[in-house]
Amino acid sequence: MTTSSGEPGGVTDAEWSAAVEAVRGLTPGPEGDEVQLICHVNPDGDALGSMLGFALGLRRLGFTRLRATFPGRFELPLPYQDLPGLDLLVPQDEAFTEPALVLTFDVAGESRLGDLQSLLAAPCVIVLDHHGSNTRFGRLNLVDPAAAATSVVVDGLLGRLGVPLDQEIAECLYVALATDTGSFKFDLTTPAVHELAARLIATGIRPGDISRRIFDTRPFGAVKLAGEVLGRASLDPTAAGGLGMVWTYATLADLARFEQRPYVLDTLIDPVRSVAEADVAVLVKQAAENEWGVSLRSKGAVDVSKVAVALGGGGHRLAAGFTGHGTPGEVVAQVRALLEQHLI
Ligand code: AMP
Ligand code: MN
Ligand code: MN
Repeated sequence: MTTSSGEPGGVTDAEWSAAVEAVRGLTPGPEGDEVQLICHVNPDGDALGSMLGFALGLRRLGFTRLRATFPGRFELPLPYQDLPGLDLLVPQDEAFTEPALVLTFDVAGESRLGDLQSLLAAPCVIVLDHHGSNTRFGRLNLVDPAAAATSVVVDGLLGRLGVPLDQEIAECLYVALATDTGSFKFDLTTPAVHELAARLIATGIRPGDISRRIFDTRPFGAVKLAGEVLGRASLDPTAAGGLGMVWTYATLADLARFEQRPYVLDTLIDPVRSVAEADVAVLVKQAAENEWGVSLRSKGAVDVSKVAVALGGGGHRLAAGFTGHGTPGEVVAQVRALLEQHLI
């Protein structure tokens, strides 16, 4: 069995072939089949980059009835407002209602599709993802937990469809790859990841410009807000069987005070997880009155995806998340309890 990553547990040859046949079986062109692409709620660089990169690939194959979307509020984080292929992006209520094919990108489970779950009734649904917790909700599931980003899976399918990488596709896939590898820092940064990055850069894209835009550009208010949120962090050295946990939270009132949008909190887990005295880092981000998006990170000793799955979420061993309820202290107490319950 060959897999996209060369590791066991990836995508089989039969799965690749079935996906290629599903796309090849459609009719491209202005009178052709409608194709709806969807990525997860609160899209990150991998979700958007993988989706738009594949959408541009389908356009190169002659498809014109293409729409890309994501559930929830139609608001793009500043770093992704220059991505190629954005002309294909529409708000969720402008998605096709009866597409011939639905493709999902970086979506670990149905709940991450919000109001767009009804589109899973389409004649064919192909799931492209790399979350170990993926629920395989498609008719075809190209899920490779050993892949550093969904864009690795996208590259595998584009290659098998005979779509050459051009600069626009490459920029999308590079943003996705750089985002999910933390700028090529994480464990899944294999030789294959660098080989893909080399092929992407060889198209002529500028990695310095892209990195500055997606990692090193933020509003002044977001920097001030980060100062407050980090200033209220708590260190709990006895949590996780003595491995330690550090946590903090940000409220909607914090966002309002600094006139910031929620996406600016997405990267705040990085300084929190840098704390040497804690294996586990938790960032609790208010989404609504009694609802919190929770980011979990581990340095390696703890599998935080188990905690996230137990609380209705998902993710990877070292990076996972879930939706919590109650006060931030109550949400963190749930995490702390699960860390003690041999879920680590
Ligand atoms: P984040 O902390 O938002 O950067 O997410 C870390 C990882 O956990 C990503 O791979 C997400 O896809 C996954 N994740 C975050 N929140 C959820 C959720 N509510 N359900 C499933 N997976 C999630
Ligand atoms: Mn993602
Ligand atoms: Mn991803």
